[in-house]
Amino acid sequence: MFDAVPDMAAKRAELSGDTLAFRDTRTGRDWTFREVDAAANGAAGALRDRGLVEGDRIACLCLNGAGFFVLLLACQKAGLILCPLNWRQPAAELADAVALMTPRLILHDDAMADLAAAVAEEAAIPAASFDEGAALWQPGQPGSVGMIPADRPWYLLCTSGTTGRPKAVIQTARMAWANAVNIGQAIHLTAADRSVNFLPIFHTAGINLYTMPVFLTGGSSTILPKFEPQDILGLLRSGGVTQFFGVPAIYQAFSLSPDVGDVDWSGVRCGCGGAPLPEPLIRFFAERGAKVLNGFGMTETGPTVFLMDEANAEAKIGSVGRPQMLTECRLDGVPDGTPGEGEILLRGPNVTPGYFDNPEATAAAFAPGGWLRSGDVGQRDADGFLRIVDRIKDMYISGGENVYPAEVERVLVEHPDVLEAAVIGVPDEKWGETGAAFLIARPGHRIEPEALRAWCRARLAAYKIPATVQVLEDFPRTAAGKVRKPDLRARNER
Ligand code: ATP
Repeated sequence: MFDAVPDMAAKRAELSGDTLAFRDTRTGRDWTFREVDAAANGAAGALRDRGLVEGDRIACLCLNGAGFFVLLLACQKAGLILCPLNWRQPAAELADAVALMTPRLILHDDAMADLAAAVAEEAAIPAASFDEGAALWQPGQPGSVGMIPADRPWYLLCTSGTTGRPKAVIQTARMAWANAVNIGQAIHLTAADRSVNFLPIFHTAGINLYTMPVFLTGGSSTILPKFEPQDILGLLRSGGVTQFFGVPAIYQAFSLSPDVGDVDWSGVRCGCGGAPLPEPLIRFFAERGAKVLNGFGMTETGPTVFLMDEANAEAKIGSVGRPQMLTECRLDGVPDGTPGEGEILLRGPNVTPGYFDNPEATAAAFAPGGWLRSGDVGQRDADGFLRIVDRIKDMYISGGENVYPAEVERVLVEHPDVLEAAVIGVPDEKWGETGAAFLIARPGHRIEPEALRAWCRARLAAYKIPATVQVLEDFPRTAAGKVRKPDLRARNER
């Protein structure tokens, strides 16, 4: 695709000027596109004045806010690489992320001042505030940067680490534009769209689902500092949102709120992804007029690659739809265009050029022909719709048979007493490996292991039935709400 892209803030200011870009609920400030561009120019100039040059990294620690997006757009102008850090991690863990990305400066908002100071001390680099009133936000002259190389590293996102040590995934402006096209085409974005931002900005979803695509289309986003179900439901109830993206854990939290029925879902396009979406949850929202469309993506793919379309949502429940406009998909070992099962391979302008300063990991991630190995198994049906079977790494072998935990989890969450399920393979003397199930009960329900076993016997082959069941109050989760299976594994060994 294109080799150069415009300065995003400048172009949008030229096209949308004084219309609303961001509404920041923490600071109470509304930002027009022109104000965003002016502030981003000021910040780009201030950062250059500090001696930062193209290719330098800047770490940032902050809650979600318009200021973060201004900083991101300033980095595009100045050729700097922003490294958003996960504020849920302690300073010692953040020091690892800093060692990985080697920033020259840490910027933070007021809420993160103490954590930033601790990380800065450990890493021996300076820290500075970029909150309201900071010198960084003096409006600057209109940018004269013109077109910018599309594949210049723009920001780095650490993978969530659910399968191992995090890697810093390079994100480029080309990826952001390609994601905006993939999303824009799939959910028909227009300048009239109003989005809500609350997923953490140190994950791709917090930036790209759907705040950046909406910004690039000329729509607006209300930015909440973090996920509070009541605040988001309030916003949805007020009719201030036309599209919404959540991970399954968020829809799960909504489903337990007494206010969920007060939302008029008919005007909201609901997307979901990042982890398996239980079918009972899709049906729960369908009964309330919300079509929750399942999608598939990765940090490495900007992230959107698959998204279910409304017309097929019911008939193809359980599927993530078809590959979106700019992304090619192959299943390893399966002839193109035919049904079958194999590792999902992806290619397109939304795919990362690789991992920062890690040529070995980059080489290992790509198959010949530039295909990114997703590490997930997909199953394509005769109409081209894809089901995510599971992660290859999560599969275990019991008595010589492959077991995909996601299939077992799907059966478990269909049981009326079960709210959420996570299954892992654990060593077993007789079978090599067996399944260990961790469950969360529906509020007011009790899980009876014998009844559950009978439920599984009626629906699963014997070797797939978990040998042990533990009921937990909650699961160990990442900031994006994904279950941390390595933590469950460690817990099981104790
Ligand atoms: P790490 O790479 O550090 O282990 P991660 O794989 O969780 O972290 P992300 O990029 O956040 O990193 O998540 C991408 C993964 O999320 C996919 O590879 C896939 O396993 C899972 N995923 C995404 N969407 C879905 C979905 N709709 N259904 C099932 N799994 C999904």
